[in-house]
Amino acid sequence: MREYAFELAVCAALEADSDGVLARQLGTHARVVDAVEVVPGPEFQDRVDLTAAAIPSLAIESEVGPGRARYWKDAVDAPSDRARRAVDRARRAVDRAVEIGFFEAERRGGREYVRQAARYPDWFDGLRAFENKPDLGRPGDLALQLRKDVSLGLFDEVILVTGSYVTGAHLNRFPEEVGVWRFDPEGGSFEVVREASPLAVDEPGIALLDEHPGRVDVEPVTAVEKARLRLRIAERAYGKGWRPETFPACERVEARGPDFRPDDTLPFCAWKGRLVDPARECGSDCAGHEPADPPDADVARQRERHTPWRRDPEGAIRRQAALDRFGDR
Ligand code: SF4
Repeated sequence: MREYAFELAVCAALEADSDGVLARQLGTHARVVDAVEVVPGPEFQDRVDLTAAAIPSLAIESEVGPGRARYWKDAVDAPSDRARRAVDRARRAVDRAVEIGFFEAERRGGREYVRQAARYPDWFDGLRAFENKPDLGRPGDLALQLRKDVSLGLFDEVILVTGSYVTGAHLNRFPEEVGVWRFDPEGGSFEVVREASPLAVDEPGIALLDEHPGRVDVEPVTAVEKARLRLRIAERAYGKGWRPETFPACERVEARGPDFRPDDTLPFCAWKGRLVDPARECGSDCAGHEPADPPDADVARQRERHTPWRRDPEGAIRRQAALDRFGDR
């Protein structure tokens, strides 16, 4: 089975078993992880209520609290006008935080002041990374990727998901902390071949940047930096999800799920008889392509049906405005 179709089926099956949220293809420290599950924490619902989008990490890490408004340049990490790019980044983060309702802005004396619309919640308890490899006979640089994940320890657990029969020789090739699950993409079921061991996410880690014959390039990463990266990953996963957003403009594509969850909204090509990757496989170069409007596919609605994520939560600003209106009566 193709990696893309396998990965979508894995995500559909993981989501069915999860009470958190899942995302595909997330950049982490020095590599892109196939799938990430965010395990909910005590204030998960507060995060759901805040905004559907990822909150910029600069805004979360800023000196802006929910109380008194502060001049944005003093509050967000925008050190000086000489560091132009840092200021631009901070400005974009402030604009985005205001746009999605995490910050409220007001103008005083020609300056913009911001404050948090609500306290940032303690909303996730863990991160699990999944590396998908349908065929272990074609592993590519899988063993190196898994060594990188274990060495850095950004995720509480790292799990290899495969469609292959797993032998002892395979297991010996991968770090012993990595869980190994066998996945049946037709039935959507997992068989745990080896349990994952928890990684030391609260301790410093070593990023393996590259391996050369006789030499490994590494970079130490502090526990504080890891915590920052984990927050960033959780936020991006919350905002992104895993379903492809765009469908090909082709008569042959339907919005449906794999056989074990047919009512989902994924790009299924009737001509190929499987899920397809629109960016790689579709277009006028495809022999089966028949121009047509893309199918109606409400991806956000599917995400709402299957997860706690909400596309249009009330948000702290609207909630406060509603309370104020109520109080005026
Ligand atoms: S472009 Fe080709 S692969 Fe894509 S949906 Fe159409 S027939 Fe299928």
